[in-house]
Amino acid sequence: MLSIGLIGVGHLGKIHLKCIQLAQAHYRLAGIFDTDRELAEQIAAEHGTKAYPTVEALIEAVEVVDVVTPTSTHFPVVKKALLAGCHVFVEKPLTETLEEARELIALSQSTGKLVQVGHVERFNPALLALGDVTIKPYFIEAHRLAMFNPRGTDVSVVLDLMIHDLDIVLKLAGEEVADVRASGVAVLSTTPDIVNARIEFRNGAVANLTASRVSLKNMRKVRLFQRDAYLSLDLLEKESQVVRLYDTDATTIPTDGQQFPLDTPRGKRIIHVDHPKSGPVNAIQMELESLADSIEQGIPVAVSIGDGYRALELAQRISDAVAETQARMPDTF
Ligand code: NAD
Repeated sequence: MLSIGLIGVGHLGKIHLKCIQLAQAHYRLAGIFDTDRELAEQIAAEHGTKAYPTVEALIEAVEVVDVVTPTSTHFPVVKKALLAGCHVFVEKPLTETLEEARELIALSQSTGKLVQVGHVERFNPALLALGDVTIKPYFIEAHRLAMFNPRGTDVSVVLDLMIHDLDIVLKLAGEEVADVRASGVAVLSTTPDIVNARIEFRNGAVANLTASRVSLKNMRKVRLFQRDAYLSLDLLEKESQVVRLYDTDATTIPTDGQQFPLDTPRGKRIIHVDHPKSGPVNAIQMELESLADSIEQGIPVAVSIGDGYRALELAQRISDAVAETQARMPDTF
């Protein structure tokens, strides 16, 4: 059983608090800290826990900290926790800058303390359901559209929303990035609110991503096109679909799912449609529990500080590409 402290009890922090309490087989909640003292006292009273007067006091009292503060504060808070000998779960994105992320990686190595980054989509049932499906995409299409909410606008839509898909795309493509092109526009805030990025990988695979926080509806979809299959993930509805083509005499056509005959220029084929399921999942509880497993059993961290760094690095390349494109555009455009 690990003692844990929660830092930041705003919108997402309150959800983390419930998930820590659900993960009672792994964690004992020692208390919380928030710079908004009144909020911390109120949340502590509601959840039967203690509000610590300072972040230092909380960090001193626990083995693990869960950092759910605004992105711009991740670096100083995580640094303090690592230096005090705590393992850390930190919400995405890891930090605001690559320099900060590199310093935290060095600190994690020198202290031997683990850091897991909250790229929670890794625990989305739509992705988990793909379990044994071979993933080798030639082309990936990702759309993450959200209605406007001033929360999170301290950073661009790339760091706020697209970073979720960047982590997934890096994981699924399993390749080094060769080239990045991007365009974006600041509509309601002072940083880009809608961005489109084209990422080319070394093996020629391409990912085309759009993220918007000024949309009229919410959507989170990732579609993968590969030689033998089309995979569609609806991360909002937590559903996935796998469509495959088979020869009519193939013996490997699964007996479950739906089948449709199809005439193609290459002869008669069978389309097989499957909706793999992973069962109900509390993704935040699961990601927090996976850190406990890594600490207690030495299992590699599910979303490591290196994964967080790679997503941030790609986000930075996209932001640079957006700035470059904007600089070329005429003012009147
Ligand atoms: P929020 O503004 O609702 O809450 C942040 C809380 O942190 C506030 O209560 C604030 O008082 C407190 N705070 C600020 N600075 C602090 C400090 N130095 N020490 C302690 N407390 C401090 O923000 P939120 O929406 O809960 O987002 C928090 C983090 O979670 C951000 O990094 C964001 O990117 C991330 N997030 C992730 C997801 C996801 O899907 N994984 C979704 C939303 C937010």
